[in-house]
Amino acid sequence: MRIDVFTIFPGLIDGFAAESLLGRAQEQGLLDVRAHDLRDHTDDRHHAVDDAPFGGGAGMVMTPDPIFRAVEAADPPRPLLLLGPGGRPFDQGMARELAAGSGFSLLCGRYEGIDQRVRDTLVDDEVSIGDYVLGGGEVAALVVIEAVGRLVPGVMGNDASAADESFADGLLEYPQYTRPARYRGLDVPDVLRSGDHGRVERWRRAQALARTIAARPDLIEARGGLSDADRTLLAEFALDERDQL
Ligand code: SAH
Repeated sequence: MRIDVFTIFPGLIDGFAAESLLGRAQEQGLLDVRAHDLRDHTDDRHHAVDDAPFGGGAGMVMTPDPIFRAVEAADPPRPLLLLGPGGRPFDQGMARELAAGSGFSLLCGRYEGIDQRVRDTLVDDEVSIGDYVLGGGEVAALVVIEAVGRLVPGVMGNDASAADESFADGLLEYPQYTRPARYRGLDVPDVLRSGDHGRVERWRRAQALARTIAARPDLIEARGGLSDADRTLLAEFALDERDQL
C-alpha cells in the first residue's frame, strides 16, 4: 500500500513512519509511505508556501501553487484527502475502507489553512480527526496512517487481532488480563483461567456489551439497541444493562 503525504514538515512523517509497526511494515514492503516537501515546489529564495489572506484577517494562508505542483509531480495514489477540522469525521469504518484499497494520499495544512481552490479542485475529500484545532495536519495524517496501516494484511503479525478489537463489531473491546494471575491482591477473573473456551467467549462478549453500554451508549444505539441474545448474555454474567446506563 502506497501512502503519499504532502507537507512542509516531511521529517515528522518520515520519522514516525520509520519506527515500530509502520517501520517494520515498510521494511517488509507492505507499506510505502512517501512524504513530499511542499517547499521543494517553490521558486523564490525563501521557499514561501504561505501568504496573507485576501479580504484581510489574522494569520497566513497556504498558497495553491506549491500544492498543485507537488501533487502533479508525485502523481499520488487517490483519493487525495485534505486534513482539516471541517472534514468527514475519521473513524474505524473509514480506516477499514482505506485499508481495503491499494493506497491514498494526505495533504497537511498549516497556518490558518489552505487556499479554497485546492479544496475545490485538487483534493477528493476532507477528513477530520476530531472536534479540536491542531497546529497542522501532520499529527492528523499520522493518526490516519497508523490506524489504516495496522489493518493492511500482514502488518499486525496476528491478523485476528483486528477482527477482535474495539469498534470491530460496533462494540468496545472486552477487558484484557495477563500474568500474574494475582497482582497486589487483585485477581484475574476466574472464567479466564477456567479453560472453558465457550464460556470465555461469552464472558468477553458480555463484558464488551456492558462496557459499551456504560461508556458509549451511542454505539449501542447505532447497532439498533440490545438484542434478546445480548440481554441473555448480560444476564448469564449478572451484568444488568440498567446498572450500566
Ligand atoms: N483556520 C482553520 C484551522 C487551521 S489549523 C479552521 O478554523 O478551520 C491548520 C491545519 O491543521 C489545517 O489546515 C489542517 O490541515 C490541520 N488540522 C487542524 N485541526 C485538524 C483536525 N481536527 N483534523 C485534521 N486536521 C486538522
